[in-house]
Amino acid sequence: MLTRLSLRKSLPLLLGLFALVFTLLQTTLYLPRSLDDALHNWRTHSSQILLLLQSSLRDHLRQNRHEELSSELSDLASLRGVSWAMVIDQDQQVIATSRLGLHPEQLGHIDSQELSMRVASGQPSWIELSGQRYLAIYPLERVRQSGLIDHEALLVEMDFAPLLWQTKRDAWLHLAQTLGLLLLLGLLLNHLYGRLLTRRLARIEQAAKQFAEDQVIPTMRVRGDDEIGQLAASVAQMMTQLNQRQDELRESEALFRSLIDSAPVGMLVVDHELRVEQANPAAAALFGCDTEALLGNLPEDRLIESNAVRRLQQTPANIAIELTGRRGEQHVPLEITCTPFIRHGQPYSLVLLRDISDRLKAEQRLRFLAHFDPLTRLANRHSLVQRLEQLLIANCSLGLLYLDLDHFKRINDTLGHEIGDQLLVEIAGRLELHLPKLAMLARSGGDEFIVLLEGAGLGETQALAERLLEDFAAPFQVRQYECFISPSIGLTHSNGHGSSASELLKQADLALYAAKDRGRNCIARFSAELSSNAELRRQLESELRRAIDQQEFALYYQLQVDNQGQPQAVEALLRWHSPTRGLVSPADFIPILEESGMIIEATRWVFRQACRQALQWQRENRGLRIAINLSPLDFRQADLAGSLLQILAEEGASADWLELEITESALLESGDEVQQCLARLKSAGFPLLLDDFGTGYASLTYLQRFPFDGIKIDRQFVAGLPDSEHSVALVRGILTMAKQLGLHVVAEGVENERQAAFLRLNGCPSLQGFHYSRPQPAEQCQARRPDGMLYSLKPLDH
Ligand code: C2E
Ligand code: CA
Ligand code: CA
Repeated sequence: MLTRLSLRKSLPLLLGLFALVFTLLQTTLYLPRSLDDALHNWRTHSSQILLLLQSSLRDHLRQNRHEELSSELSDLASLRGVSWAMVIDQDQQVIATSRLGLHPEQLGHIDSQELSMRVASGQPSWIELSGQRYLAIYPLERVRQSGLIDHEALLVEMDFAPLLWQTKRDAWLHLAQTLGLLLLLGLLLNHLYGRLLTRRLARIEQAAKQFAEDQVIPTMRVRGDDEIGQLAASVAQMMTQLNQRQDELRESEALFRSLIDSAPVGMLVVDHELRVEQANPAAAALFGCDTEALLGNLPEDRLIESNAVRRLQQTPANIAIELTGRRGEQHVPLEITCTPFIRHGQPYSLVLLRDISDRLKAEQRLRFLAHFDPLTRLANRHSLVQRLEQLLIANCSLGLLYLDLDHFKRINDTLGHEIGDQLLVEIAGRLELHLPKLAMLARSGGDEFIVLLEGAGLGETQALAERLLEDFAAPFQVRQYECFISPSIGLTHSNGHGSSASELLKQADLALYAAKDRGRNCIARFSAELSSNAELRRQLESELRRAIDQQEFALYYQLQVDNQGQPQAVEALLRWHSPTRGLVSPADFIPILEESGMIIEATRWVFRQACRQALQWQRENRGLRIAINLSPLDFRQADLAGSLLQILAEEGASADWLELEITESALLESGDEVQQCLARLKSAGFPLLLDDFGTGYASLTYLQRFPFDGIKIDRQFVAGLPDSEHSVALVRGILTMAKQLGLHVVAEGVENERQAAFLRLNGCPSLQGFHYSRPQPAEQCQARRPDGMLYSLKPLDH
């Protein structure tokens, strides 16, 4: 019950209650008992005095000492509580009295008969009168000489009322003092209680309330190490922690909010009826409205599909479904995922919305790319192969043309890729114009096209091929450029039986190669011979793969002499000692090494061997430079220069002991990389020679663009010397030009003295050919004269 009251009230109330109980106990128990005790004590005390007095009075009577008797009575009457005292004889006549004029009859308390009886009894007796008054009768018998007994008595009236009143008054005074003390104690306690307890508790309460209202930690002026001080410290600590937690909570809430607001994914919180309760800006943007406008919306308000609700409800949690949203008049494809959760005991869902327009477009584009060429929008190779397979399954006769544009790379290099691309589009357009209805045109990559003629015979296919070829005679107009370009066409035909799609494509491809071999801008038809040639090549290729590992390659060296006939250099020429074919000419296997990519490894081998040989000749004091042939295909590797320089370093050879021969065709369709590679090789100290000079297209341009040190006149021009005017004019021209450009010249294929004489006469500094030496193993080039000098080479006899 006390806990219902404030501490300020409960303490005074408790003290009041205590005082009340104390007062009650005092008045009901203690006071009556103490009055009884006082009365009893006084009676005992009085009777003892009276007993003492009885014997002394007896003596006085016996001696007749009346004066003493009277004085003793007076003394007695002066005692507290004694009203009066008298001594009476047996006739109840007053012998002595403390108050004059007092007679027993006057007493009226007792009749004389009873008095006589009590006196005669010889025993003291007390008679209770009204109002705490008593009459004490003490017999004083006296034996006379006569033997008679006089029955005299002492009568004393005692009134204890004043005494009791005083006792009562004392008791009340005591009570009043105690209560006063209690009051003082109460006040003191209340004061202390206020200072130590209630005021400090009130401050704590006040601070807690203020914190609850303002969320700011107030200053709490409660000090001390007692429980309340500790309580205040704990509360302050609790408030600080709470504040910190609230800050953290607010921060994480703000972060969470901003994450949701800035999330690129639409988010909705919906109740069990799918009614929107919360939405983020991304969701609003998806539907083209404000976030507020979404609140309370149902799926049917924003989704197109009539079964949207059912689908959303039936789809398992976290599984995405695709539905269409409404953004004004627009339809937005959406991917929707629902994640259920419980909030305030109610089921809710978090709905994630993603606009999948871009993805669908990308998928569409991928589907397109899977079947079409994005540049020309023609079918791609894959679609064509599919169609081809279908036709073959249906045993349809068909024709297949494989078109490759001749030197298309030059267009890209000279006019740029953009023009190249547009030219491809133009070509696709023109090709399409000439196609019969049942034909499919595909771009199979780069500058290659395939035409599939459904149900066509061989003649029809051939005719179409010729028409297409003719069609390329007219230039293509691409922006301001008139582009002339020709195709090489490979042709094959099937009557619908016996061949697979891949076989037919291979046949067309082989035919295309044959067309290229025949000098391009022509049609080649697939034949069994092409196929067996291809088979032979494949076999050769597989044998060549083993050749390097099995050390079947060897290097032969052909001397180059100056116009005095002194050896200056040798050209390293590769030979293949095939276990089955014997010595194979490089003309037969170099193209296969090139096609298969093995040339890179072969060149590295040749280069390493040449380095070793050059080193050996240097040790033997034979300063013969070794010329090494590089294939155009060597330049296709990422770092030809780096690879050669590494071998050079590994073998400990020097670049100026070697020469590098590069044919025009390496430069023909080359880009900046080849130029950089040559510049690097040149700066490393390798002399560079342009091989087969005169056979290519624009040799003079290359001489300007690339850092060559010399040229090798092709043997087809030397062969015509000195009788062919054409050859004479050309060789003279080359020699004059080279002299002016400061280039070294080597004439190849010198087979007789007439040719040699012509060349010498026209100032050709270096000659090479069977007339001087055939290519031969290194040992045979090392012959020395007995005096240690080199042999001066004499023309060989043929
Ligand atoms: P090439 O670089 O023009 O080499 C000269 C070719 O002419 C050699 O043929 C050589 O034997 C031949 N020859 C030399 N003097 C005469 C002559 O007086 N009359 C005639 N008719 N021919 C002569 P070979 O050794 O058969 O090489 C043919 C081609 O193979 C070379 O032509 C070169 O392009 C290529 N080749 C040879 N070895 C290598 C090599 O190690 N690497 C590369 N990439 N190509 C090589
Ligand atoms: Ca050469
Ligand atoms: Ca040559």
